[in-house]
Amino acid sequence: MTARLRLNDGHSIPQIGLGLWQVPAVITAQTVATGLRLGYRLIDGAAVYGNEEGQGQGVRCSEVPRDQIFVTTKIWNDAQGHDTTLRAAEAGLARLGLDYVDLLLIHWPCPARGLYIDTWRALIRLREDGRCRSIGVSNFNAPHLERLIGETGVVPVLNQIEVNPRLQQAELRALHDQLGIVTQSWTPLGQGKSFDAPAIAKAAQRSGKTPAQVILRWHVQIGASVIPRSTREAGLAENLDIFDFALTPEEMADIATLDEGTRCGPDPARFEML
Ligand code: NAD
Repeated sequence: MTARLRLNDGHSIPQIGLGLWQVPAVITAQTVATGLRLGYRLIDGAAVYGNEEGQGQGVRCSEVPRDQIFVTTKIWNDAQGHDTTLRAAEAGLARLGLDYVDLLLIHWPCPARGLYIDTWRALIRLREDGRCRSIGVSNFNAPHLERLIGETGVVPVLNQIEVNPRLQQAELRALHDQLGIVTQSWTPLGQGKSFDAPAIAKAAQRSGKTPAQVILRWHVQIGASVIPRSTREAGLAENLDIFDFALTPEEMADIATLDEGTRCGPDPARFEML
């Protein structure tokens, strides 16, 4: 059993999960099945990943009961707006072959389009209708979160954002803590760019763990949920095996110095791709 984090709506989410971005559709069901067999209980997908059929198949065909698996999907930018979001969510559930998802996210705010409030109202409706258990956002900056909450009074349970040692997002994470929002880290391994940094390498050597495990453990110790991706069984197992050791306060402080504010992905204030 992996650790779980409480959500502000009474549900909870596994702290570690399996990310499905860039997992080829033909191997997605098998990857999900392997992940579930190894102990993953959170599967992070999205309409735009093009592999929701495999995500759903892996979940539906598993011996792990549905109610023990936490399924996330996301509304892509081209579906933003109230009615288009309702239709996109139904289409996503149909591709997944599921009656509900555990978490539905707005994938990006696309602030220039000005549709994320209408989109959020649709997510509120989908939750009321039982099509998702919890609702949240992804790639929202502080002004987007403040507007969303100010206009609707509904606080997202989670914000899935890019976090890795080179982009630690301390300010946004502090705002999440104040608002009762769970931080979930995407591209948590930061494209391996910190694997050789002395702060990571030293902690890996001391603990007998790999650089990837040290980084994933850092995410856990900053209180985030984390969704690394691997399609190899050994990689999946390695990434899950981070609950039998801890980084020391000194190691955490050393890793804090690696923050450069540099992104692997796009800037949410400007990303509007349809
Ligand atoms: P990641 O940080 O999980 O890294 C994946 C890469 O690292 C792959 O090349 C993989 O082979 C390699 N890797 C995995 N485990 C390793 C290990 N133990 N040692 C060495 N290399 C290892 O990156 P990601 O896939 O970009 O992000 C994770 C998940 O986050 C995605 O799959 C997706 O679900 C989600 N995501 C969300 C958004 C968003 O906008 N909301 C954006 C990007 C990713």
